Amino acid sequence: MADNDVLVLGGGLVGTAVAYGLARLGQRVLVLDEGDIAHRASRGNFGLVWVQSKGFGVPEYQRWTRNSSDEWADFSDELLRETAVASGHERPGGVTICLDEEELERRRKRMEQLHLEAGETQFEYEMLSPAALKKMIPAIGPEVAGASYTPYDGHANPLYTLRALHAALLKHGGRYQPNARVTAIDARPGDFRVSAGGRTYAAPKVVLAAGLGNQALGAMVGLNVPVRPVRGQIIVTERMQPVLNMPTLMIRQTVEGTIMIGESREESGFDDTTSPEIVHTLAQRAVKTFPFLRHARIVRSWGALRVMSPDGLPVYEQSAQFPGAFVCTCHSGVTLAAAHANHYARYVVEGRLPSELARFSTARFNVQAAA
Ligand SMILES: Cc1cc2nc3c(=O)[nH]c(=O)nc-3n(C[C@H](O)[C@H](O)[C@H](O)COP(=O)(O)OP(=O)(O)OC[C@H]3O[C@@H](n4cnc5c(N)ncnc54)[C@H](O)[C@@H]3O)c2cc1C
Repeated sequence: MADNDVLVLGGGLVGTAVAYGLARLGQRVLVLDEGDIAHRASRGNFGLVWVQSKGFGVPEYQRWTRNSSDEWADFSDELLRETAVASGHERPGGVTICLDEEELERRRKRMEQLHLEAGETQFEYEMLSPAALKKMIPAIGPEVAGASYTPYDGHANPLYTLRALHAALLKHGGRYQPNARVTAIDARPGDFRVSAGGRTYAAPKVVLAAGLGNQALGAMVGLNVPVRPVRGQIIVTERMQPVLNMPTLMIRQTVEGTIMIGESREESGFDDTTSPEIVHTLAQRAVKTFPFLRHARIVRSWGALRVMSPDGLPVYEQSAQFPGAFVCTCHSGVTLAAAHANHYARYVVEGRLPSELARFSTARFNVQAAA
């Protein structure tokens, strides 16, 4: 049995961000990860560090997301210093493009709501006319009706981010065990025996960070984590000259030059394949938005599964039945990577989650409908 302070179950973006944060705080941490055969959102996502769609009606989520986005640049610099792996993070601001007046009006209302709900935190945004948008991004097409802009948005390369987090974890003395699918947890308060890959590991604390695996693991430690898969399909083009100077919600140019076009939202169970209809719809919208894409060669498309809670918010909680067992899961693991490493890890060490995360507890799933 290893000598561990914390076992982190799952080695995607969420698990490694928390594990790195723990190791940096001097904790003896071991990540147990099922590995390549599992569904892994961290390897199939769109790479936005995105604020402007987050937290309608839930200002706590907007604040948490904004805070993570504010910390991302330092976080990225730190990973580069620690590991020499560049995350590719940039924060030039971002736009959500609307193709007709109805979309634009819906967007305007949403941005107003975010602004009002931000209160003291404030939330700067602009609604852009086609002409103003064209000044900002000259490649925009004539069919675009307008866009919303905030300075808080950015993007990163999620694969390099994951690689950097793994390297930084190891550098701080953390350990990573692949091919270690957790099949059972023998739980007592502050004492956990975890069976994985034919071995048993022990620690006084565990963090459930297994993405779609969290539902099954949660049941082993008294936590109700009703996450489900929501598929997204993405298209990527050949490398092109720099043409998009900021990310949009559905189209972005990577630092390497490829253009990523995404992303659908589909209830498809655990099917992570692609479908011609969706790829066609995505491509059509992309060409309307940026006509130059008509001539771009597509090099790949793929499907991947989001880790979605019933209300789309993260799930953060310590088990009341088995204190020492925490769950950390969300559908924006790139955006929230800085918050997970810088803050969630500290809360695990302190042994309690702060009141500002109470809105994300599983209590919200246990509310009974009124008779
Ligand atoms: C199409 C798409 C686009 C997205 N775009 C964005 C975006 O632009 N910006 C953003 O912030 N987020 C985005 N996301 C979401 C983001 O990818 C996820 O929030 C994030 O990757 C979740 O990371 P995770 O570590 O929780 O899960 P995963 O990446 O799924 O990792 C879970 C890990 O747990 C392991 N595991 C599972 N079960 C067990 C078990 N029983 N025992 C041990 N290990 C186990 C798996 O092997 C895996 O390594 C997108 C997701 C998708 C699918």
